[in-house]
Amino acid sequence: MQIKSKFKNQEKSIFSIIAQLSTQHGAINLGQGFPDFEIDDKLQNLVQEISGQSKNQYAPMPGIPELREILCQKYINAYNTKLDLDKNICITAGATQAIFTAIQAFVHPNDEVIIIEPAYDSYAPSIELVQAKIIAFALDENFKIDWNKLSNMITEKTKMIVINNPHNPTGQTLNKNDLLNFEKIVLENELILLSDEVYEHLIFDGKVHQSVLAFPKLFERSIATFSFGKTFHATGWKMGYAIASQKLMDEFKQVHQWNVFSVNSLMQYVLASYLKNPANYNQLGEFYQKKRDLFQSEMSMTGFKSIPSNGSYFQLYDYSNLSDLDDIAFAEWLIKEHKVACIPISPFYTNNPKHKVLRFCFAKKEETLVNAVKRLKAI
Ligand code: PMP
Ligand code: GLN
Repeated sequence: MQIKSKFKNQEKSIFSIIAQLSTQHGAINLGQGFPDFEIDDKLQNLVQEISGQSKNQYAPMPGIPELREILCQKYINAYNTKLDLDKNICITAGATQAIFTAIQAFVHPNDEVIIIEPAYDSYAPSIELVQAKIIAFALDENFKIDWNKLSNMITEKTKMIVINNPHNPTGQTLNKNDLLNFEKIVLENELILLSDEVYEHLIFDGKVHQSVLAFPKLFERSIATFSFGKTFHATGWKMGYAIASQKLMDEFKQVHQWNVFSVNSLMQYVLASYLKNPANYNQLGEFYQKKRDLFQSEMSMTGFKSIPSNGSYFQLYDYSNLSDLDDIAFAEWLIKEHKVACIPISPFYTNNPKHKVLRFCFAKKEETLVNAVKRLKAI
């Protein structure tokens, strides 16, 4: 049978490719972004306790009210932003489903959607599936936004801009001025902003996360997406949520309804209970900064050159002092010869970038990080 694919390139995600190669060669895996340590005991205990409470049938379409209510409280506390649990929030199967749903809901065939490269790998295929045009905007050589260049890419066909803050894979974070610039661009051109904030708590060096939720005019035209998997060290749960103004959320929920209808009810009760204590997420920045600092200090004794960043659980390193190989070939060589896996970043671009840069995930136990770098010191 001939299948006419909707995708231009049918490729496996770079995260799956590297994970498989890493397992095959028994490497230490600093590639795919997931922690190698356990979830909090309190969260584990809640899973056990609530799994005995018969929470096994369909949840309401947008999620259980208890979880949406506690999220309203979370964002009142964080930004003084008043959300309504029935109007502004939908619980999703991870941020990936929230992103996919938002693009399905608002982007029409032949619309243009701007993504900021290097870009997380699920954005472009989601745009391709609605037969819209991907407009790739590249960050400059310091991974910052050239605002004039961005403004010049907007046409009357532009429907949406997708941003990711803190940013995977660069670890860059946006400041208040950046958000005000986006507000201006989005309002002037009547665009929709899809703001992927899965690393909202992973921000370091005294910086404060700038969420679209804290900018009322921008929020009117934004959908923000979040991941419990990232926040609570449980990426396999595939639980997340979207927040938007009512008009956008009504349409978002239409797509969600015909797509999954509702998501894992047991985990929603577990998360609603765990979120009651803000200490369960407010200290994450400090927790991960220690890991970032340890990793950087170990890596400073290798030939890799760190690229400044202050968010997410990824760190980019330039390897141009060590090899002339392209990033995919060098990452494969590192796995095979030195038994350490990391992610090449060219798959985050439409066109191959000139730089020689790899992404390392430091969401790992201290001994994992130390042992991995011990191997890299030998290069
Ligand atoms: N956006 C970014 C930037 C990510 O790094 C990831 C991976 N966690 C996701 C979205 C997807 O999140 P989830 O695993 O909750 O689907
Ligand atoms: N978000 C994870 C990362 O960036 C990957 C998730 C996946 O494998 N799709 O590493």
